[in-house]
Amino acid sequence: MLSVFGTIALDTTRTPFHTIERTLGGTASFASISASNYVFTSIVGIVGHDFPASYLELLKNRVDIRGLTISQTGKTFHYDSSFSYDLSKRTTNKTELNVISNYQSTIPEEYVDSEYVYLANNDPSQNMNVLKLFSKPKLIICDTMDFWIMNRRDEVIKMINKVDGIILNESEAKLLFKESNIFTCARLLGSIGPAFAVINKGENGSLLFYDNEFYPLPAYPTEIIRDPTGAGDSFGGAFIGYLSQQEKLDSKSLKNAMMHGNIMGSFAIEDYGIQKLVNINADDIKNRYEKYKEIFSF
Ligand code: AMP
Repeated sequence: MLSVFGTIALDTTRTPFHTIERTLGGTASFASISASNYVFTSIVGIVGHDFPASYLELLKNRVDIRGLTISQTGKTFHYDSSFSYDLSKRTTNKTELNVISNYQSTIPEEYVDSEYVYLANNDPSQNMNVLKLFSKPKLIICDTMDFWIMNRRDEVIKMINKVDGIILNESEAKLLFKESNIFTCARLLGSIGPAFAVINKGENGSLLFYDNEFYPLPAYPTEIIRDPTGAGDSFGGAFIGYLSQQEKLDSKSLKNAMMHGNIMGSFAIEDYGIQKLVNINADDIKNRYEKYKEIFSF
C-alpha cells in the first residue's frame, strides 16, 4: 500500500487563455490520483468545511480517503497562481494555508504498515511528523517547493535527510543550494542522504542521480499544454507507484519509474486541474509508454 501525504487544495489557476477558480488541486490530490493507476493508494491530509462534496466523491472513487480529515471550522488550503504566455513560468499570487497551518497529523491504523510513503510538497515539519506514524516503510520519497525552501530551509534539509529519494524541479533545486548547475544540485541532494534524486526540467525532461551516475531523460513530447499545475506531483505519484510494483530498486527500475513519471506528467498538463488525469485508463498509459520507448530505439 502507498500512503500519500500533502495538500488537498482548492486551486485558482490563471493562464493567458483561461482561468479556473477553486478547482480540486493540491500536491496530494495529483500525486495520489496519478499513483492510483499503479498501486492501492491512500491519501492523508486535511480539508475545510468549504471542500465540495463532489471533490470528496471524486477522490473517494480513486483512493482510500480514510486518512482525510475534514475540519468543521477552517477553510481548505487555497493556492492562486498565474502562468506566463509560454506556460512555463508560474507566479504565486496567494498561498492561503488555512486548515493546513495547525494540522496535527493522524493516520488510520490500517495505514501504519504502508510499505510506500510519498511526502508530497507540504510543510516539511509536518512531513517529518507524519513519517513517524508509519511503522517501517520500505521506500519514502519526498518533494518540496520554493515556498518551503524560502521560509523553512533548515527543515527542508532535515526532511531530505530522512527519505530514500527526492523529486523536485530545476528552479527549486537551484534555489535550495544557490547553485546554477543542475548536475551539481543533484549531487548535493544525494550528499544530504537520499539514495537517489530526480530533478524535473518541465518540457526539457528530467535528470536522475543514482549510485554516483547521472541519467537524463527527455520529456514525453506533448503538443497540448493547457495547465502545467500538478505535473510534478503527477510525476511523483507515478514514479513511486511504478516502483512499488518492482522487486528491486536499481538504475533500471528508477529509469522506468522516470518514464512513467514523465508520462503521467504529460497527461496532467493536457487539461485544467485534475481533469485529464481522471479521464485516462491503463491502455492510455501503456500506449504512451510504448511510444516513448520507440523514441529511444534507433
Ligand atoms: P506542482 O504544479 O506539481 O508544483 O504543484 C501544484 C500544486 O501545489 C497545486 O495544486 C497547489 O495546490 C499546491 N501547492 C501550491 N503551493 C503549495 C505549498 N506551499 N505547499 C504545498 N502545496 C502547494
